[in-house]
Order: sequence, then structure tokens, then C-alpha cells
Amino acid sequence: MRASYSNALFISDLHLSEERPACSQAFFSFLESITPSSEALFILGDFFDYWVGDDIQTDLAKSVASALTFCASKNSLDIYFLAGNRDFAVGQKFCQSSSMTLLKEEALFTIADKTVAVSHGDIYCTDDVGYQRYRRVIRNPIVLNALLLLPKKARIRIAQKLRLASKEKFNRSPSYIDVTQDAIVRAVTKLDCDILIHGHTHMADIHFIHEPDAYPKRIVLGDWHKVGWYAEFSDQGQHLHRFSIDNPVFSLNG
Ligand code: MN
Repeated sequence: MRASYSNALFISDLHLSEERPACSQAFFSFLESITPSSEALFILGDFFDYWVGDDIQTDLAKSVASALTFCASKNSLDIYFLAGNRDFAVGQKFCQSSSMTLLKEEALFTIADKTVAVSHGDIYCTDDVGYQRYRRVIRNPIVLNALLLLPKKARIRIAQKLRLASKEKFNRSPSYIDVTQDAIVRAVTKLDCDILIHGHTHMADIHFIHEPDAYPKRIVLGDWHKVGWYAEFSDQGQHLHRFSIDNPVFSLNG
């Protein structure tokens, strides 16, 4: 049966890494601001800037796991994680140690009586043919398992190369490839949802898919860089919030 909540919080694309402590700090403040009236938190991918396997636990990953576990038990909060293109190697083991439930690339929930589909969003960027080809290879469980069996040093080297390649690609054409309307309409029809929420493109916005001010809607979360973003769904509707990373102020459930 589909899990049902009366409210939920959503974040994505934090790109947590040791190199950006302010962002990790903002994330810890975000967790601290959550109260027991929140029922669920969805982390929709690219939570970490890179991930080379659950067996390589950085200090940052350990702090994140214990902060999530503390927040989940203190507030009886259900936390869900869905992998992005950066952290696709996050597995069951890390999710368990963080009190998170690992989701597949698309999942459906009922939130405040609306059917909500969650995804990272990269699968809807169908104009990026090269990336979609790469994604099919790297996300294949056989390939992923083979990668995770490599020595730790080799995995770190591969992750560094992938990060560099993506940085170079961005420098050559400094814009993120957006989703295609075709892929979105197909997904919303297939999932039969009122709301599709995703990240990945870093283009925070609320879109109406067929007609203005009507469901189905597509809500895009923004990345956490100089500003950060979160969405809050309740019987009051769906709201996208923006805050400063260096001086974060959250007003959850308000
Ligand atoms: Mn992404």
C-alpha cells in the first residue's frame, strides 16, 4: 500500500561535501528546525556531491547519518532517500545507518490527499542523449556492483574523474539541460499523479502541466549553493521556500 502523510518536506541537490562546510551546516540547521508536526522528509538525490560506496564513510557522512537518525527518532519522522546522478552509489547500508528508506527512481505517495510522485529528475532530461546512455550503463546493477568491488583508491579516482568531466562539460556550456515537456507529460500520465516533484536541473519553480492554476503540477527543487531550497506540502497547498545558506532561517509548518 502507498504511504500516506498529511504533510511532507522535500529537499534535493545539496551536493554535500567537505569542501562546502556552510552547506552542511545549513543542512544540520534545517534538521534541527524540524518539529514532531512534520511527518515525512524526502531527499531527492544529489544529497552528496559524490559517493564511492557505503564502505567508505567520511566524517561528514557519519555526522549526516547520526543527525538524520536523531531527527527521525526525535520527531517520529519518516525519511526517504532517492539517488541522484552524483550519489547513485548510496546503498541500503548507508540508508539504514541514517534511518532513511531507499526509493527507486520514481515513487508514489499520498500527501494531504494528493497523489505525489517523487524523482531525482535526470530521467526526464531526454534531450541529453549522451547522459541518458551513460546513465543506463552506470545505473545497471551489474555495472554498479562491479564498480563497488573495485579497490577504494580506484573508486575515489573514478569519482574524481567523473566530477572533473562534469565540471568541464558545465564550463563548456554553462547551463543545465532542462527536462523535456514530452518526458514530463509521459511520466505524469504513467504515474497518474497530481504532483511530480524533482530536483537535478537546479531550476527551482512550480509549473502547471496542462493548464494554469490546476493539477497536475511539476515542482522543481533548487540546489543548495549561495541559497538553498525546500518544499513543504500540506493541506495548505505546496510551497517552495528559499533561504540563505550562510544565514539560514526556516519556518517549517507555518
Ligand atoms: Mn542531479
